[in-house]
Amino acid sequence: MLPFEYARVTGVDEAVNLLAADPSASYLAGGTTQLDLMKDGVLGPERLVDITRLPLRGVTRDADGLHIGALTTMEELAADPVVAGELPVVREALLLGASAQLRNMATIGGNLLQRARCRYFRDPTVPDCNKREPGSGCAAVRNTARMHAILGVSERCIALHASDLAVALVALDAVVRLHGTSGSRSVPLTQFYREAGTSPDVENVLLHGELITGVTIPPLPAEAATGYLKVRDRASYEFALASAAVVLVMRDDVIAQARVGLGGIGSKPWRSLEAEQVLTGAAASGEIFREAAAAAVQGAWTVPGTAFKVELAQRTLVRALRNVSGGAR
Ligand code: FAD
Ligand code: SF4
Repeated sequence: MLPFEYARVTGVDEAVNLLAADPSASYLAGGTTQLDLMKDGVLGPERLVDITRLPLRGVTRDADGLHIGALTTMEELAADPVVAGELPVVREALLLGASAQLRNMATIGGNLLQRARCRYFRDPTVPDCNKREPGSGCAAVRNTARMHAILGVSERCIALHASDLAVALVALDAVVRLHGTSGSRSVPLTQFYREAGTSPDVENVLLHGELITGVTIPPLPAEAATGYLKVRDRASYEFALASAAVVLVMRDDVIAQARVGLGGIGSKPWRSLEAEQVLTGAAASGEIFREAAAAAVQGAWTVPGTAFKVELAQRTLVRALRNVSGGAR
């Protein structure tokens, strides 16, 4: 690991000012992504600003929804009574991710900003990676690629955004709260990420120095049902090959509202408005679920190693819709 300076801060403005003044500095939260990449020689910040003592931990609720501090750990959020009781989609997405040890360290802000799991990105001896070195090419497109994306990609980059939680949060219309040297702003999570297909090295709208202070989940209609389904190579401690976060409001057998997030297949946590359009106002049935799933993968761009995901993603969404609608369709 390259040498670096370490600073621990206790105030949000102190953190933001320190980072904004130093282009080579990075924030350190739980460290489960940041330190891995530094040890592998992929990242080499000259200064780490440790934000773990900032007062950004915990979950509160008011009329605007559920407010989650950015330094709340994955395990703490999964155990929150509102999440456990009313938001199974969030709890399931959290508990199906990583391991208990990691979830005890990993924070919500860090989870949203986790980096690509592409093996070529994580191996600095591979010269061609547009995400690491803009303009150098994409090793994944011409070599073996399996844990990669099929939506929001191009021949420039097929890296996946691997966060399970973010898939649930896009389906819940969550908003990210940011604070920087020019003040605070809120960005809907659906507009926070950039697709890897354009400039793979720019992954989101965060400015250098801007801090994620929290996430807000707006209230759901009282009759909404939610769920998360994750399909992976082994039953625990594995990233998604495909996943689906579903929010449905059913009136009798008719889908009054539908929100669909897809994981394991997008260069960003994928919100499928196409699937939602098919579902909304339709009577719940296997046929309509399959039609929605087909709409969700329209525009998929595959390489030989990822072609299987077109079918897998559809089956995953159909099953998630069945589970959440409560039907054996
Ligand atoms: P850090 O590593 O501290 O930071 C990550 C990045 O975010 C850094 O760039 C840091 O500078 C930046 N950052 C952190 N907090 C903020 C903030 N508040 N504002 C601005 N920038 C910030 N995730 C899943 O969703 N599903 C899985 O199945 C899964 N499996 C995993 C398996 C393994 C073996 C590992 C190592 C990780 C896995 N993860 C998985 C990813 C894990 O959830 C993330 O590594 C973790 O959530 C990152 O949080 P952190 O607090 O450790 O972030
Ligand atoms: Fe790099 Fe993206 Fe290609 Fe992976 S898929 S090698 S991250 S450019």
